[in-house]
Amino acid sequence: MRLYIMSEKIFVQKTGSCICGKVKFTVKLDEIPRVFNCHCEDCRKKIGGIISIIELRENAIDLKIDELSVYEHNGGSNNKIKKHFCKICAAPVLTYVQKWDKFYLYAGLLDDISILKKAINIFYEDSHFPFMEIQNSKLKL
Ligand SMILES: [Zn+2]
Ligand SMILES: [Zn+2]
Repeated sequence: MRLYIMSEKIFVQKTGSCICGKVKFTVKLDEIPRVFNCHCEDCRKKIGGIISIIELRENAIDLKIDELSVYEHNGGSNNKIKKHFCKICAAPVLTYVQKWDKFYLYAGLLDDISILKKAINIFYEDSHFPFMEIQNSKLKL
């Protein structure tokens, strides 16, 4: 495990890829990354279930974004959302949310998911599968 110190914070470098392996990346994450499980209808329809995404710091990920396909649409409150996915296997890789001006990485693409120990559930009250009952869904990181 490689550790980096940037802006007095410690980062961990991780690698990841899509299913087919065309998209490969390295990413610098906080020791305790900010992970969100999103239960919203938008994410549900995109991949057929809930998604787990990691909020990225600026310039944290190294990949060739031009090699990804992009689907742009308006989210709630007319915010632009850009979904970047692999052109070949269609695995979702990154989502850009204009409202927060942030990129989010699909957590499952990491080769090693062992550092993802905490997650915040969002849009749980609005929309969640009844079989997916979560206690303390309002816990914050
Ligand atoms: Zn792929
Ligand atoms: Zn969502």
